[in-house]
Amino acid sequence: MFENLSERLSGVFDRLTKQGALSEEDVKTALREVRVALLEADVSLPVAREFVKKVQDQATGQAVTKSVTPGQQVVKIVHDALVDTLRGEGDPGALKIDNPPAPVLMVGLQGSGKTTTTGKLAKRLKEKEGKKVLMASLDVYRPAAMDQLAILGTQIGVDTLPIVKGQSPVDIAKRAKQQAMLGGYDVYMLDTAGRLHIDEVLMDEVEQVRNVVEPRETLLVVDGLTGQVAVEVAEEFDAKIGISGVVLTRMDGDGRGGAALSMRAVTGKPIRYVGLGEKMDAIETFEPDRIAGRILG
Ligand code: GDP
Repeated sequence: MFENLSERLSGVFDRLTKQGALSEEDVKTALREVRVALLEADVSLPVAREFVKKVQDQATGQAVTKSVTPGQQVVKIVHDALVDTLRGEGDPGALKIDNPPAPVLMVGLQGSGKTTTTGKLAKRLKEKEGKKVLMASLDVYRPAAMDQLAILGTQIGVDTLPIVKGQSPVDIAKRAKQQAMLGGYDVYMLDTAGRLHIDEVLMDEVEQVRNVVEPRETLLVVDGLTGQVAVEVAEEFDAKIGISGVVLTRMDGDGRGGAALSMRAVTGKPIRYVGLGEKMDAIETFEPDRIAGRILG
C-alpha cells in the first residue's frame, strides 16, 4: 500500500551528491520524505514536524558508513529516534499492584475495547503473575456491558462482582473494594462506562470513582486505528482524571500505528500494552521497536 521508506530514501540519495558525511542539505531532503511517511502513518503534523527537527540535528554531519547506503543510514537514525521517543520509563507491562487489594481503573470511550482489555489483563495477571483478580463493571447504563464482563469472567476463570441493579457507579466501586478486601483479592479492576464521545457527565462520574478508590493504575483504552482522535481522547482523560498509561487496541488492523507516537509526544504518558485481536490472549506488552518498524513501513 505504501512505498517503503528505505526505498523512497535510496531514491532521494541517488539524486544527491554522495559525500563522506551527511550534509545538511542531504538530510533536509531526506527528512522531507520521512515527514511524509510519518503523516501517512497517521502521526499528527505538529508531532511529525517536531520529530523531524530533532532527527535533523542528530543526522547532520554523521559520517556515511561504508556498509550501508546514506538512505539506510537515515532510516536507522529515524528508527532509533522513534524508539527513543516511544519508550517510556521502566517496563510498560509491570503494573503497580503491590499492597493488595490494588485498584485498577479502566477508562475510555465506548467501543474502544475497554471491557475486552479488562478481561485480557485480568487473565494475564492471573496466569502470568498468579494474582487473584476481581473484575467489576460500573456501566450502569448498559446492562449488556455488565453481562459481557460476567461472561468474560466465566470464560477466563476470573471472578466478577455480582451485579446489583439500581446502584450508582460509586456504590459499585465501593462494593468492589469491600469485596476485594474481604475476599483476599490482589487486584480489583473497575471497568467504567464509556460514551461515544467525551462528555462532562462521563468525566465527573469517573472522577468520583477515582476519588473513592484511589486507583494504583488508571489505564486508558483507545482504539489505535482512530489516530488523532485517540490522542485528543488521551489528552482529555489525562487532564481530568490523570492516567498512568495507555492501551492501544486494534493494532492487529491495517493501521500504521502513528497514533502511538503522537500519543507519547503529546501526553507524555507511556503506552503499556497493545491489543492484537478479539481473543482473550491477544494482548502484548508495548514494544517501541515493533511500532517504530511499523510506522516506517
Ligand atoms: P468497550 O465498549 O470499550 O468495552 O469495547 P469492547 O471491549 O466491547 O470491544 C468492542 C469490540 O472490539 C469487540 O467486538 C471486541 O472484540 C473488539 N476488540 C477489542 N479489542 C480488540 C483488538 O485489540 N483487536 C480487534 N481486532 N478487536 C478488538
